[in-house]
Amino acid sequence: MALIVQKYGGTSVANPERIKALASRVARYKALGHQIVVVVSAMSGETNRLISLAKEIMATPDPRELDVMVSTGEQVTIGLTSMALMDLGIKAKSYTGSQVRIVTDSHFNKARILKIDGDRIRKDLNAGYVVVVAGFQGVDEQGNITTLGRGGSDTTGVALAAALQADECQIYTDVDGVYTTDPRIVPEARRLKSITFEEMLELASQGSKVLQIRSVEFAGKYKVKLRVLSSFEEEGDGTLITFEEDKNMEQPIISGIAFNRDEAKVTVLGVPDRPGIAYQILGPIADANIDVDIIIQNTGADGTTDFTFTVHKNELNKALEILRNIQAHIGAREISGDDKIAKVSIVGVGMRSHVGVASQMFRTLAEEGINIQMISTSEIKIAVVIDEKYMELAVRVLHKAFELEEAGIS
Ligand code: ASP
Ligand code: MG
Repeated sequence: MALIVQKYGGTSVANPERIKALASRVARYKALGHQIVVVVSAMSGETNRLISLAKEIMATPDPRELDVMVSTGEQVTIGLTSMALMDLGIKAKSYTGSQVRIVTDSHFNKARILKIDGDRIRKDLNAGYVVVVAGFQGVDEQGNITTLGRGGSDTTGVALAAALQADECQIYTDVDGVYTTDPRIVPEARRLKSITFEEMLELASQGSKVLQIRSVEFAGKYKVKLRVLSSFEEEGDGTLITFEEDKNMEQPIISGIAFNRDEAKVTVLGVPDRPGIAYQILGPIADANIDVDIIIQNTGADGTTDFTFTVHKNELNKALEILRNIQAHIGAREISGDDKIAKVSIVGVGMRSHVGVASQMFRTLAEEGINIQMISTSEIKIAVVIDEKYMELAVRVLHKAFELEEAGIS
């Protein structure tokens, strides 16, 4: 007997048929003698609908009130899911985040989980119930409803698995696992049988949308065994997200390729090359709560230096405005922005023990005539910023150059 947390995303609860299919799957696991906690998202599209509705009333919705109403999406699905289970003769009980007592901090719309009281759930499990919990939501110490940020049900699933010391956390979605890259761009992309937490974290932060980044961080920190599976298929092992030491020795150098079209580039030319200049440029950007990703500084021979960095596309104008306001003060010759860029990243723990990965990446792009505008690396990642219009081509040629079609099968 195992304790399994199963999280179902929006497409897996999109309509009554999907919810009934979910219930049948839970019934099969239950029949094997397992204890099951189900975490559900809102029906697909519902959270977007609720947010739009709020914006029709208030252009910038009050954060606390927004959480009160967007959290209702999940409250609908827990009730329906419990009913679908009962209809199959299974004892089931649903709880909202605050009923469980998933306690978070008070950052409305992007709260962090502080602690989970597992007592109530444990009692129900021991009494033979399937427990259904609303994803994406919690309650702060003062009793206010909070939500965990878009895609936050993944984090609810992982956090519950950690709190209950579950044997496995299964994330059911509309893809049957983690792929070497998006199959919509590279039809030859392969599902990975396993991937390490570090790789998954890099892929998620470089643009892969399979799992919410925070849920992967959480799973890594609390050593939760995490598996991504499709709720649209009866069979299949999905992708296991595991620890490096668990993986067998035969590892591909590169596990996956991620891409991201959401960033824009900011360039500050000809500032004096002296201590404090990076702070003068990036300090006000940070103060405005704008996330900066890649940063490059290049020193010229004339005692000036150029700065380039990337921000989210939505924040490009805000960043440019801030910099133009301080342009005279920092002595910059020119400030410009470009949102027609894309970031393509190759990720793999095998990079640690192999030389020449970067040069192979650069050669592959050069052979296609793709110009690299920025480069950023970590121990297990190489990311390049290129012209947006070459993004798909870049992903395809890199997928081929690193023989990911074969690597995925192993
Ligand atoms: N329903 C929420 C969202 O759409 C949470 C989730 O699906 O994970 O972001
Ligand atoms: Mg989701």
